[in-house]
Amino acid sequence: MARLTVITGPSGVGKGTLVGQLLERHPQIWLSVSATTRAPRQGEVEGQSYFFLSRERFEEQVAEGGFLEWAEFAGNLYGTPRQPVETQLAAGRPVLLEIELEGARQVRRSFPAGFQLFIKPPSLAELERRIRGRGTDSEEAIQRRLERARVELAAEAEFDAALVNGDLQQALAELEGLMELA
Ligand code: 5GP
Repeated sequence: MARLTVITGPSGVGKGTLVGQLLERHPQIWLSVSATTRAPRQGEVEGQSYFFLSRERFEEQVAEGGFLEWAEFAGNLYGTPRQPVETQLAAGRPVLLEIELEGARQVRRSFPAGFQLFIKPPSLAELERRIRGRGTDSEEAIQRRLERARVELAAEAEFDAALVNGDLQQALAELEGLMELA
């Protein structure tokens, strides 16, 4: 598989579940833990789900060049800490980033040999159902995420490959195939 894989897709598409299953089956893959200014959701663990930072601390890290990429998404900042990614790549470990579109574009410039994969929902209606079903976001946040989803879905052609996350097991098998893990 490519040394660096980027997975992008609209919020609510089920990237997290898919990536979780992938890592269980392929523990050699290292998943980057992002930093964010978003508040933790119920059950999220500092240092595992995200590094939860204040906006001030996040901006300091931006100024220090501490992020490989970063972007604003639905009113919060998200970024990939640079150093751990470089360390894992230098150790020869396959690295996976699960990030939104702007970040994927930045990584495409800095790692043109990376593999970029787009995950899409069976339909926009199904995506909305999943975001609402999560029950963790305010109506305003849901609207912002749906707005962003339309923008992201229009960018599918920029990616090396795309897969539909309808049936989880089928999507997982396709993902393994595309990442040359099967
Ligand atoms: P959520 O708030 O639902 O956890 O994430 C919102 C969006 O931010 C998702 O599309 C997710 O892929 C993206 N995201 C998470 N971490 C990063 C990151 O480090 N950089 C960028 N650019 N996007 C990220």
